Amino acid sequence: MWNFPTPLPDELIYSTIARAGLHHGIQSPKQLLDEVYQDRKVVATIDLPSHLNAIVHLLERTGCFSLIDLIYKHTMFGLYAPFVQESHRQKAITLMAEQASGSIHLMLGLNASRVPNNTKFHYCPICIQQQRETYGEYFWNRAWFLPNLSICLKHNCSLLSQDYIQQQHRHLFLPLLPNQTKDSPHPYYKEDFILGQMAVELLQLDPQSSPSHEKWTKFYLEMADAKNFRRGNHVCHDQTYEQVINKFNYVYLESKNLGIDPDQDTSWLKSIFRKHRKAFSFLEHCIVWSSFIPEMSPREIMQYVSSISVTPYFVKRPISTDNIPPIKIREMRQKWQDIVLLHGVTTGRNIKPGSAIYMWLYRNDQNWLLTFNAGHLSQPQARKNKINWSIRDFSITKELFKVLYRSNDDLACPRMSKSWFLNQLSKGNSISKNLYHLPLSSKFLSTYSEDTMAYQIRRITHAMIKLGYTESSTKDRWRILRLAGLSKERITQEAQIFLNMICEKKIYAH
Ligand SMILES: [Zn+2]
Repeated sequence: MWNFPTPLPDELIYSTIARAGLHHGIQSPKQLLDEVYQDRKVVATIDLPSHLNAIVHLLERTGCFSLIDLIYKHTMFGLYAPFVQESHRQKAITLMAEQASGSIHLMLGLNASRVPNNTKFHYCPICIQQQRETYGEYFWNRAWFLPNLSICLKHNCSLLSQDYIQQQHRHLFLPLLPNQTKDSPHPYYKEDFILGQMAVELLQLDPQSSPSHEKWTKFYLEMADAKNFRRGNHVCHDQTYEQVINKFNYVYLESKNLGIDPDQDTSWLKSIFRKHRKAFSFLEHCIVWSSFIPEMSPREIMQYVSSISVTPYFVKRPISTDNIPPIKIREMRQKWQDIVLLHGVTTGRNIKPGSAIYMWLYRNDQNWLLTFNAGHLSQPQARKNKINWSIRDFSITKELFKVLYRSNDDLACPRMSKSWFLNQLSKGNSISKNLYHLPLSSKFLSTYSEDTMAYQIRRITHAMIKLGYTESSTKDRWRILRLAGLSKERITQEAQIFLNMICEKKIYAH
């Protein structure tokens, strides 16, 4: 084909081929395949296409598009490659170059993933205006195809969905033809923007080899360690669960098909903190990263994980600082010392720059770190002013009531336990240790904090609303339980009675 169109920034290859058809006025899908590939069996794949060498050949005249450029800049490859083993990444690249017959998705772990693959047609109504002004035509931008995240990060809005368009047959390349009257906005959650931001950054990373499963395993152990969620070789899964659920509530996780049952031994969250034996999806990784180390970007995380050295665990790792410039070590030590002097060791590694610095030193300068920390385990040295506890008590209680009013109508809120309330306050940690000085605050916490029973009943209520049940509709007990993240084993007696009342309509009969 002469004059094959040049891929536009972030345009999917699928879209470039569809535009080629449009430019050349080719109506028949078979004819388009003949012109582009000289092969009628090529399948039109949106996310991870194959036969890319044919496209590289068509673009040779531009001198700008190598196979790797096309894969990393014009497909969804970057979302998956960092998380599979290096041999699988290499194999997938080879498959994408030539004929692959569906095995690319298998190679990159999509078939085994819990996250459904997004092949629906979405677009951002604002982006397309800009496309028309800048390029004079529309194209499918890969940022609209993040699986399970139907949002535009650039414009903070929902995408319009062309659900009525079916991929009529597997060899058809559909160009973007917006239809403002028929295209409807796709629902989204505010948390989508946190994960979307990270996903887009993953897509934009430069090509790099993938860290091994051993490196990922070690990274997750260090992350648990940095939060003090580890006892010896054992990760405290209850604490990792709390950490994640405080950032992403169960309804949200369930909507992504990534619900976590804290009692289930095979939950994905427990598995990701154990020895990695298979690839986890980008969404699973991003959920944990943003819950544990929101201050680190995916780029920094990938750099960090790649730098982890893996030695067999039964050999004590020799601590070597040979390869790191001494000035860097001095700088990191100084930063950590400053943090510990202000906040103490435990708080220091839980706050924003502290956790990243702690992890860096843990990896590169462990002997010094452990010795230093051992000498500073007590409270920070900065002298505290004498505290007027009764004034403090009053203002904390006021603060707590504000939290209560703010969250009372939010049915999706995590369990409003005593520690949850304290976590909402800026100095929750120090308050919990001093509650005996604070009678009003203590009274508030014992009166308003939610126990397991009340929390389960709230989740059941929320599930009912989500499912659109009214008093008269027939209720599916199993769906309610599942959406509420409950099981027969975990439900309290009171919540069970509540559920029975709802599901047995005769209670309402008179
Ligand atoms: Zn947009």
